[in-house]
Amino acid sequence: MKDLRTDTLVNTEMKVYFFMRSLLRYFLGKHHKEGTMARNIIIDEEECIGCGTCEEICPEVFTLNEKTDKAEVTDPQGAPEDQIEEAIEACPVECIHWEE
Ligand code: SF4
Repeated sequence: MKDLRTDTLVNTEMKVYFFMRSLLRYFLGKHHKEGTMARNIIIDEEECIGCGTCEEICPEVFTLNEKTDKAEVTDPQGAPEDQIEEAIEACPVECIHWEE
């Protein structure tokens, strides 16, 4: 004879497992789709004039090094891609680039 309680428990666990798996896939897929995981950001330090514009627009990603007076990438995944793109476009000497 089948134990209905065990079957119900297994079914519930399976539902929770598939729900959690689908949630994880949704958020990982969304994050990947935004392109923040796959791309890196490069700053040409020779060209950087240390104006700080990139840091003003996107402080989660860019920091002005006070010793070198050059911008640095502190967290390439720290902000949405469109915000990073805004900082790239605002750079007056166009020294910030995506690395594919
Ligand atoms: S906006 Fe460009 S020039 Fe200005 S600090 Fe950032 S990387 Fe350097």
